[in-house]
Amino acid sequence: MSSVQYLKGIGPAKAKLFERLGIFSVADLLHYYPRAYQDRREHTPLAGMNPPSLTVFKGRVLRAQTIPARSVLIFKAFLADEQNRQIECTWFKRKSFRPFRFDPFAQLKKDFKIHAEIWVIGRKENRNNFFDDKITVEEYYPVSDPATLWQAGRITPIYGLTEGLSNKQMRQYMHEALSSAEAANETDILPSSLTEKRRFLAGTQALRAIHFPNSVAELENARARLAYEEFLLLATAWGIKRTQKNIVSKDYTYQISRRLLSPFRKNLGFDFTNSQKKVINEIFADLQAARPMNRLLQGDVGSGKTLVALSAMLLAAENGYQSALMAPTEILAEQHYLTFQKILKKLKVPVAVLTSSTKTQERKKILTALTDGSLTVVVGTHALLQDDVYFHNLKLAVIDEQHRFGVRQRGKLKEKTDRLDLLTMTATPIPRTLALALYGDLAVSTLTELPPGRRPIATQTADEHLANHIISEEVEKGRQAYIVYPLIEESENISAKAVSEEFKKLQHVFPHYKLAMLHGQMSRTEKERVMQDFAAHKTDILVATPVIEVGIDVPNATVMVIQNAERFGLASLHQLRGRVGRGSHDSRCILVAQHQGTVARERLKIICETGDGFKIGERDMQLRGPGEILGTRQSGEWEFKAGDLFKDRNILQWAIEDRDELLQQDPLLKKPENAAFKERLLELYRKNWHLVDLS
Ligand code: ADP
Ligand code: MG
Repeated sequence: MSSVQYLKGIGPAKAKLFERLGIFSVADLLHYYPRAYQDRREHTPLAGMNPPSLTVFKGRVLRAQTIPARSVLIFKAFLADEQNRQIECTWFKRKSFRPFRFDPFAQLKKDFKIHAEIWVIGRKENRNNFFDDKITVEEYYPVSDPATLWQAGRITPIYGLTEGLSNKQMRQYMHEALSSAEAANETDILPSSLTEKRRFLAGTQALRAIHFPNSVAELENARARLAYEEFLLLATAWGIKRTQKNIVSKDYTYQISRRLLSPFRKNLGFDFTNSQKKVINEIFADLQAARPMNRLLQGDVGSGKTLVALSAMLLAAENGYQSALMAPTEILAEQHYLTFQKILKKLKVPVAVLTSSTKTQERKKILTALTDGSLTVVVGTHALLQDDVYFHNLKLAVIDEQHRFGVRQRGKLKEKTDRLDLLTMTATPIPRTLALALYGDLAVSTLTELPPGRRPIATQTADEHLANHIISEEVEKGRQAYIVYPLIEESENISAKAVSEEFKKLQHVFPHYKLAMLHGQMSRTEKERVMQDFAAHKTDILVATPVIEVGIDVPNATVMVIQNAERFGLASLHQLRGRVGRGSHDSRCILVAQHQGTVARERLKIICETGDGFKIGERDMQLRGPGEILGTRQSGEWEFKAGDLFKDRNILQWAIEDRDELLQQDPLLKKPENAAFKERLLELYRKNWHLVDLS
């Protein structure tokens, strides 16, 4: 790859500046896309301009002069634009103590000769003078200068800069780089069959168009093509990794005997929804396949993912295998444990729960039972990932609410489970294409229906007074309520204190009801007791931190009051709301908000208007961008220069389809028409990922 120093006008000093922008080679420079564009194609009628906006016109110099003033020097030029309007352009130079050794306006005087034609880009002065157009000039370009072609009279690129580099210079260098690439007749990294199929501009054409587009349509085509290129490179890298991983086949098989599954279904007391049946079949097919399962199960809050997971775990148990379910919080792990215990006791399948607050003695017992195989099912938190946790024959791992785990934890789990069947579950649905891009070849199942009898949860904003009134109404009817306060400074410790204070106040507000409190700083037994009391309706109102966000399942609770609702994200609000509406009674969710910015107001509006977790997920992604949601913002791994994972979902879909076709025809990219693509892939791979081995 040739260094930027080969370009005209770039010496070692300039090259250092480019390095600061991460630009080393000519190719790097060509892929340094503009951060914005200015439309400098035509004259903007000045009379209609508002002062701060940019004005662009081509004018002919009528006259120009230097005007001395007390503290500044002024250069004034009068130009006639194409409509023959007279426009006054001004430049200022502050006088220094020492007189100028050179005329500060020498260049201006040279350029603004009478009759000279000049492109002017500037801002109208903030004056209400209708007849008199005055411009503070930001840039100007003599029409006679050939370099002007890249600076004005067109859609002009604006670059992210560093000190010592100007946009003007960048445009000039970019033009040089493009010309040299065009002259070298460099081959497109995309096979022409693909650019033709998708009607994209070919390689250098697309690069020229993203820097110097002739029209908005051309720019959009170029951007789409370059986004596609990025997606295709990533998708192919993952695709190759998949092929290599797929060579690994399982050294164990599953037989469906129904020894446990039949009584499990009979004991449930209800039938699976059609959606659950379909998904369970998909998972069972994966388990029986020769390669390890890697499946994401997405389903809205309350869609019944737990029982789907348990079905798979029972199939494992039927075959004498161990399985583990990992949850993001202790409370959720405990909840799952209680659910599992009830069901598994009758089936005589041993189950235990392991978290970081499991007592040493207990923990020892569990670890021994996991190692000797006497324990079949284990539920826990990331405590399951500790180095001294060994399994006798773990074959299936389930991760619940996987979006709540950090990227690093997920990575660690992958290490531990690479040769296992892996089921991940989430209620924050990721558009399918996004999931594919993120996880490579991930199979996705979706629960599209809720169990019968669920009612929509009426959601509204209200003040505290009204919220408390609604709570009393419901408690009088024999129902129960949650009141949730936000985490303060991300700290459970401080939040626990804040909740304790609110709890005291609330006891005065509701003197006749039984209140309980739940936060992350309580001991495991305390938490367990509080949860069990609430489930058994020994208490009426549960005051809590967001620890209850996932998993809590008390059908008699019909009110969820969320305090400081403006401080919660969309996904959290939806999850919290999902704690009610689980029984046969009408339920309500009350959002009490204090200070609201526009984004917060938008969030609350969305939550009030829709109960569909998938729609909420999409809007969330729009509001925040996928990087933040996926928790990968810092890693840089998913930063695309041209593409936007959310907006360009269709292009991403194309890239994935074409990747599949490409790898089917040429799994190791050995065909000559794919050589340039392969070279680019390896170049990127060396820099960014440790994904592909094409040797
Ligand atoms: P989520 O998908 O949010 O994890 P859960 O698995 O916690 O949902 O299920 C929510 C509630 O729905 C639980 O009480 C569960 O027992 C119940 N449930 C699950 N499947 C069905 C079904 N097919 N019919 C009736 N209730 C069901
Ligand atoms: Mg769940």
